Amino acid sequence: MQPYFLLIGVLIALLAGLAAGKAWERYKLVEGRWIDRRRVRQVPHFILGLNFLVANQVDAAIEELEKAAKIDPGALEVKLVLGNLYREKGQVGRAVQEHQALLQRPRLDRVEHANVLLCLGLDFRRGGFIDRATSAFTEVLKLDPDNEAALANLEKLQEEQHQWQEAYSTRQRLAALAGRPEQPRSQAILAFLEHEIGLQALGQHQLDEAARRFSAAIELDRLVVPAYLHLGDVRLLQNDTAAAIKIWETMIEVAPERAYLAFDRLERAYGTLNGPGRFEQLCRRLIQGTARDWRARVALAAHLTSRGDAQKALELVFEALEHNPHALAIHQAIWNTLEALKLPSEQVARYVEITRTSVFYLDPHLCIRCRYRSTELLWQCPHCHEWNTFVEERITPATDNESEIPALPETPVPPVAIDTAG
Ligand SMILES: [Zn+2]
Repeated sequence: MQPYFLLIGVLIALLAGLAAGKAWERYKLVEGRWIDRRRVRQVPHFILGLNFLVANQVDAAIEELEKAAKIDPGALEVKLVLGNLYREKGQVGRAVQEHQALLQRPRLDRVEHANVLLCLGLDFRRGGFIDRATSAFTEVLKLDPDNEAALANLEKLQEEQHQWQEAYSTRQRLAALAGRPEQPRSQAILAFLEHEIGLQALGQHQLDEAARRFSAAIELDRLVVPAYLHLGDVRLLQNDTAAAIKIWETMIEVAPERAYLAFDRLERAYGTLNGPGRFEQLCRRLIQGTARDWRARVALAAHLTSRGDAQKALELVFEALEHNPHALAIHQAIWNTLEALKLPSEQVARYVEITRTSVFYLDPHLCIRCRYRSTELLWQCPHCHEWNTFVEERITPATDNESEIPALPETPVPPVAIDTAG
């Protein structure tokens, strides 16, 4: 009987130990009170904090989450979120402090460790500590090679530092992770990165390498307009004007709305190879294709004025103005043309009448992702860093009811910044 009682005794002790352990795991002594850890997620402060967060009331959210964190200082995710909120409020130092303290905790598992490092990387990026941000994201990827947030942030940091080759590799990893549905977007980004690598080669006068890169960019995404422009430039430098013309004409077929970007180049190239008539044909064809194409009208007008036909030019720029009364570029073209005609009073009066109610921007463009405004077309948005998101900003046409710019996503409007560089 003796061993039997002993066994029971051991079992009971074991169970008691387990129960105590469970209780210890579940309950905790905070400020002299036992609290149930499982219920921390259910206390009003945590839920309230999340509600405030959803309602975009950051200060109130911080206040509630700080209370929740006090009740259970061990809750990692509450601290993590708090740190992120400090960062979003611009208190980067405090965010770093909060997140670094979490790194000191013993027994962080791999996922938790990666999460804390990711948040720390975001703090550093926000604070402008590029190197420290880069190494934080790199560390995350060592712990969790498929971490998309770390890859996406790393890509943007590499782009900011013009490390195009590295950004390209990072984007390839992201593309592989995202799989099919995201493929076209990744292809477009890879194409722009390939184009940037080509530009670096062009800057170092490595013409063959540059041409190879620009062609690869077009292969990746046939809509990558700047790659055509620069591939043509390379062909011109290689004294192959016919090939340059062919590439620029292909670009116009693929993206007629960007045709104007090749106007100067084509006007010159046609002039040396085909005679000036061909440029006029191109512009007429574009105007016929898209009635509201004011850029083709303005380009043709300048071309005609330079060839002594300012009268015909003036009709064209007046037409252009009716389609887009706000573009200062058109007004400048009109001034030049009127001047060439020695300011005929009847036409000047007509011009004044058309423009009576216009507001002027030089050549307004708008990022459809974040509404950043620029006075020229940009391929990468300096505000949200997205590629190829700029559209021409059209306010109200003077005559017909043409469609407005595409609907914008519901995002908060950032401060308006007019880019005057370039
Ligand atoms: Zn943007």
